[in-house]
Amino acid sequence: EDKDWQFMARVRLPGGRLTAAQYLVLDALADRYADRTLRITSRQAIQFHGILRGNLKPAVAAINHSLLTTFAACGDVVRNVVTSPAPRRDALHAALEADARMLSSALLPRTRSYHEIFLDEEPVVEPEEEPLYGRTYLPRKFKIALAHPADNTADVLANDLGLVAVTGEDPAGEPVGYNVHVGGGMGMTHNKPATFPRLATALAYVARADLLRLAEAVIRFQRDNGDRTDRKRARLKYVVHDRGIDWVREQVETYYGEPLQPPRPVPPLRMPELLGWHEQGDGNWWLGVPVPAGRIVDHGPDQGEVRLRTAFRTIVERFGLDLNLTPQQDALLTGIAPGQRAAVEAVLREHGVRLAEEITPIARWSLACVALPTCGQSLTEGERARAPMVADVEAALARHGLEGERISFRVTGCPNGCARPYQGDIGLVGRMPGHYVLYVGGDFAGTRMSFPLLDRVAQERVGETLEPLFAAWAGDRREGEGFGDFCHRLGRDALLALLPAALLP
Ligand code: SF4
Repeated sequence: EDKDWQFMARVRLPGGRLTAAQYLVLDALADRYADRTLRITSRQAIQFHGILRGNLKPAVAAINHSLLTTFAACGDVVRNVVTSPAPRRDALHAALEADARMLSSALLPRTRSYHEIFLDEEPVVEPEEEPLYGRTYLPRKFKIALAHPADNTADVLANDLGLVAVTGEDPAGEPVGYNVHVGGGMGMTHNKPATFPRLATALAYVARADLLRLAEAVIRFQRDNGDRTDRKRARLKYVVHDRGIDWVREQVETYYGEPLQPPRPVPPLRMPELLGWHEQGDGNWWLGVPVPAGRIVDHGPDQGEVRLRTAFRTIVERFGLDLNLTPQQDALLTGIAPGQRAAVEAVLREHGVRLAEEITPIARWSLACVALPTCGQSLTEGERARAPMVADVEAALARHGLEGERISFRVTGCPNGCARPYQGDIGLVGRMPGHYVLYVGGDFAGTRMSFPLLDRVAQERVGETLEPLFAAWAGDRREGEGFGDFCHRLGRDALLALLPAALLP
């Protein structure tokens, strides 16, 4: 009977940071209460799946005892705050991590009911004050990301509030402030044109000291102006789209209490490679390990005997390493002394884990949401279809000598777009069982939206459908032009003209 009542618990981890001790607690909980896996989400959180009803309360209590929380990881509040996961030991990264943690805790709801329900704390008798969220909370979830221009792995413009660090002369120095972008969000509904994915629009520059005050002003503005009659149109992006950024700026200024400054010039956003070996800048190294679809799991012999979960546990126990989880659903093992490098790598290899240099760029840059059978919204496969689809696309690329190209590939089981499929080179969005809408034309750095090219592509025909486009790109690309850039330059009609009639609707 309990099978009908399986729960998901999401652990809030600002910036995806986990100490070794916390990781080991979560790893043990996966066995005790969940489905023996940990899943890294596209927002640097950890999800447990398959928690039976009777186990929910002890699981949540155990998470809290490890000084982590599931509080406000879901709901119509500020969600897990995302930022650059790179453990570079410089003033810029320290500031981003500190500001992510600061926003995450300062913007938590004040309610004690979570603690009463899950942690058996004494009920509070007086009515509770929610100074920021008010009695009715926000119209919808609210997402915040911080990034610096050289690392947009957080996909900062996909957020309700996207903050891009502005540094002084030293690009790795402490930021003086942030360029503030508002109104990004990925979700949409099929056949409802009033809903759409959107990248955030530049609003202002704010000094670092005023960051929290500005964030609160934007949240209050959305609390009072977001659509509370239609949840499908309740996100901040629709207010920005419908009313225009100038009106939004005027309104936010009234909440902020003074005029906002215009955004400052910053270098273009870029997407760095964080997997593999990197020096941290303090004499130690980090190793970025690809985690397919974010699932930390041991696969038995029938699935190639890759025991990633045991490998991570062994490494964390033996070397006491902290982990940074990335918004690309991968894990960075941090603080590795030069003398430990060979041993860490050996543990991974002994457990059959493939390192970044052993997989193609498209496999490395693929994201998938959980979808079937776990997510109630899913129309198609997500995570489980990623590997076969990537294999098909890899083969198609290889036939045109393109297997070494950096291409992003994102699969989601429904138009909510948890894996950010409307940004990046190739996006597949669940449409109906076994079929996806194919999106192309975004850019690798996450600064341009993609567009829908075909409406119902069968899962097993994704590689075949993309191949004529790859062929044209190989023959006709301009210097340094990415696949998404090429698709953007040609446009929908020219791309459709490249496809054989059999692949067209
Ligand atoms: Fe998100 Fe939809 Fe995927 Fe569920 S199926 S995880 S709601 S994108």
